[in-house]
Amino acid sequence: KASIKLTSIVEPLKPYINVTNDVAGEQASAADERQQRNSLLGQLDGIPIAVKDNYCVKGKPTTCASRMLANFSPGYNATVYEKLRTQGAVLIGKTNLDEFAMGSGTVDSLYGPTKNLWGSEVLSQFYSYGSDDSQVTTRKLHEKDAWRIAGGSSGGSAVAVATGTCYAALGSDTGGSTRNPASYCGLVGLKPTYGLVSRYGLIPLLNSMDVPGILVRTVDDAVLILNVIAGPDQADPTTVQREYVPINLSETIDISNLRIGIPKEYGVQGISEEIAECWEKVSCLLKEAGASVVPVSLPHTDYSIVCYSVLNRCDVASNLACYDGVEYGHRADEWSSAHELYKKTRSEGFNNVVKGRILVGNYFLLAENYEKYYIKAMKMRRLIAQDFDVLWNNNVDLLLTPTTLTEAPRYDEFVQLDNQTQCLIQDHCTQPANMAGLPAINVPIMLSRNKLPLSLQLMAPLFHEQRLLTVAKWIE
Ligand code: GLN
Repeated sequence: KASIKLTSIVEPLKPYINVTNDVAGEQASAADERQQRNSLLGQLDGIPIAVKDNYCVKGKPTTCASRMLANFSPGYNATVYEKLRTQGAVLIGKTNLDEFAMGSGTVDSLYGPTKNLWGSEVLSQFYSYGSDDSQVTTRKLHEKDAWRIAGGSSGGSAVAVATGTCYAALGSDTGGSTRNPASYCGLVGLKPTYGLVSRYGLIPLLNSMDVPGILVRTVDDAVLILNVIAGPDQADPTTVQREYVPINLSETIDISNLRIGIPKEYGVQGISEEIAECWEKVSCLLKEAGASVVPVSLPHTDYSIVCYSVLNRCDVASNLACYDGVEYGHRADEWSSAHELYKKTRSEGFNNVVKGRILVGNYFLLAENYEKYYIKAMKMRRLIAQDFDVLWNNNVDLLLTPTTLTEAPRYDEFVQLDNQTQCLIQDHCTQPANMAGLPAINVPIMLSRNKLPLSLQLMAPLFHEQRLLTVAKWIE
């Protein structure tokens, strides 16, 4: 009940597309009853969670923040939601995102942008919400136009957790969409190894890089949620078909035998002084604790974003071809031929970012262009992944980098840039991990002079979540 009440207070920040009052009510009452009978369903019994609105939840709108799916309700649950539900979790709502998860700011949603809690006068209001003065909250938010973006594309999930309306939220991460908003909202954001967590019921963006992500306040919470959602799934053949061994972090953490790499390619132009200082400071702390901290190089890093844009658009062109007004979602009202039905439906249903990516993707996939763009980008993807392998084979255990190059940008400044340029800047540090399938985590470190969260990222070899989370906890 407290969570539902909070969601109405935080409404002006727009973390949710749909607050699932009815589901939450039923699930919470059932959890209460179980508690009275002293027979808890699982580790998450009665715990409020939120799910990004690109995961299917049976009978509930699943919009991808797009007009195309505004009235679409799937007939089945995504595996990750099903697993959380089976452990007793209570679904508070479906969260806001950039349309079809294409973005890094949660500024391109049919339902309007998600606003960051941090850097706004409303912050103190939320933490004294007991006073129940939601009017004040709303007024202050609108007065202040220099608000900060929440990051994206899982900005809704991040703000849902940051405002305390839920304990954990699912994001998705194709190029950084979980870690980026975690960085700007001062949260832990985990992108597990590709194939560790089922994508069944997650509406795809780039199939070979999409990974369900976890947004929470602490590393322990990330472990708890990961242990619930990870593991093989018959319904997703890309999950690794071996039993998942739950992660268990020990109380005492010794990092003195670790070699931690600092890749020079991540200290690029545009990195703020404060992030650079933060990176330096944590490197020193690790050194003082006995870890060996070594400068390393990932020479193909700069090509990562360019290759990603090619691969992303090719997958988008193919994945979004099914939205033609026939089977799913939006259908244009008037048309006189099948061709016109497709054309009108797609023109009306998608925003300009999505349309642009579909057009460019189809261009890359033309027979005469395929070698030149798609195949070349795939070859480069391999080189990017091999850069990491070279380091792991040379006894580097983990990498420490920034997650984002600055604190959360102001909305009015951020939207001056087009979507492509936004992603170029935002995804520089996060995207290579998706190219290589590696697990990576955002760890909040400190507040900037503007009182905004500053964060860093850790990356580990494939399936080394235990090591990743252990060091993340040490840093936290
Ligand atoms: N910013 C990237 C894009 O727009 C990544 C988004 C994501 O991880 N979902 O494609």
